[in-house]
Amino acid sequence: MLLLNPGPVTLTERVRKSLLQTDLCHREPEFFDLQDEARSRLLAAYSLDPKVWTAVLMTGSGTAAVECMIAGMVRQGGRLLIVENGVYGERIAQIASQYGIDHEVVKYAWMEAPDTDAIIAKLDGVTNVAIIHHETTTGRLNQIDELSAACKERGIGLLLDGVSSFGAEHIDFNGGGITAVAATANKCLHGVPGAAFVIAKREALQHAASRTYYLGITRLAKLQDERNTPFTPSVHAYYALVEALREFEDEGGLEARHAHYAGLAEQARSGLAALGIEGALPAEESSVVLRAYRLPKGVTYPVLHDALKTEGFVIYAGQGGLSNELFRISTMGALGPADIDRLIASIAKIVRQA
Ligand SMILES: *Cc1c(COP(=O)(O)O)cnc(C)c1O
Repeated sequence: MLLLNPGPVTLTERVRKSLLQTDLCHREPEFFDLQDEARSRLLAAYSLDPKVWTAVLMTGSGTAAVECMIAGMVRQGGRLLIVENGVYGERIAQIASQYGIDHEVVKYAWMEAPDTDAIIAKLDGVTNVAIIHHETTTGRLNQIDELSAACKERGIGLLLDGVSSFGAEHIDFNGGGITAVAATANKCLHGVPGAAFVIAKREALQHAASRTYYLGITRLAKLQDERNTPFTPSVHAYYALVEALREFEDEGGLEARHAHYAGLAEQARSGLAALGIEGALPAEESSVVLRAYRLPKGVTYPVLHDALKTEGFVIYAGQGGLSNELFRISTMGALGPADIDRLIASIAKIVRQA
């Protein structure tokens, strides 16, 4: 079965085999070697200076990392502006509410791009801005550089949900106001679910708040710097993350992964266009990671999903109100051009039969 959903991804054999390594006690040096390697490779993926940035690992899915970032990186008494144009922006607003963080939401329709000038006009009195980089709801890659620069000018910390972009899309860590990026092992990095991380600016970490126990970023960062860990981590997920990061480097790193995904996304787009299936957003506004498409005429999502599953593909539904209009195809994981050719041929057959 090939997974075309936005994580977990189809594993390479190399990463799958890494799960079979020896059992490890998480209080032994062998585990801390693994943790150190994961942390340094995560920074290396974006050529980040370990004196300026730190990778804070935790056990959980991408949402754990987002929650850790929001609960920690908005300082005590801080005020958070949240940019929302999809499910994941909405989730950050729910997290802020849950922790009683003073916040305001700037909301856009799910198919819309955020209006950067209007957001910048709202920055007075704000200590942090949170935005989704790749809004997986629609496949939109939100443009963040101008907002990031405006944050930097005002001393505002930009908190980025990079869960579905880290490893595949360019992120300007050093040019603007980014102070933290949350992401996960099992999307563009091709690891398994269970390990997530926040890349945080060490200077910003000094002012972190302590609102959560398990996901407290200050303690996680401090203990990991000391080759320690507060709790039992998902050791096997760390094995897979490290192997996935080695493979990422061997394959040429960020530029190569971006180019690989871009090729597959364009192949899928043009193949589907030839069948009369249009992208929900223009390709130039979309990520290379995932694209949303309009359901072909006369084919409902359940019919398309089930027919493709019998052909060995798992696609993904539109979320919420988009569920009867759209379907989504992610090109993360161990996929190649031949897989996309087979996918297009399968969809062509389904459309013909409808
Ligand atoms: C997948 C995803 C998440 C986290 O989802 P989990 O199911 O917790 O891994 C958060 N934000 C974005 C943008 C995502 O695509």
